[in-house]
Amino acid sequence: MSKCTIENCERIIHGHRLCSLHYLRKYRHGTTTKPKTYRQLLIEAGKSYCPQCDHEYTLDEFYKDKQAPNGIATYCKTCNKNDVLINIIDLQN
Ligand SMILES: [Zn+2]
Ligand SMILES: [Zn+2]
Repeated sequence: MSKCTIENCERIIHGHRLCSLHYLRKYRHGTTTKPKTYRQLLIEAGKSYCPQCDHEYTLDEFYKDKQAPNGIATYCKTCNKNDVLINIIDLQN
């Protein structure tokens, strides 16, 4: 069995010398590289999006998060603070 021709991909070939994942990606997006998400594009522009506020802010408004895929926390600093407060209130009740 041969393997996908994409670098570091160990999957078995599905078609066009690509695995099913890369084959589908090429078919759908015309490229085998992962399409950038809206957030990745924003981060490259020095901004990020907070789903809680439904608003875009500059990266100063976000904490760094090593666990997050982009290294930036999902929610803005204000929402993170609110979350902490909510958790404290929950604990008291
Ligand atoms: Zn592959
Ligand atoms: Zn927010």
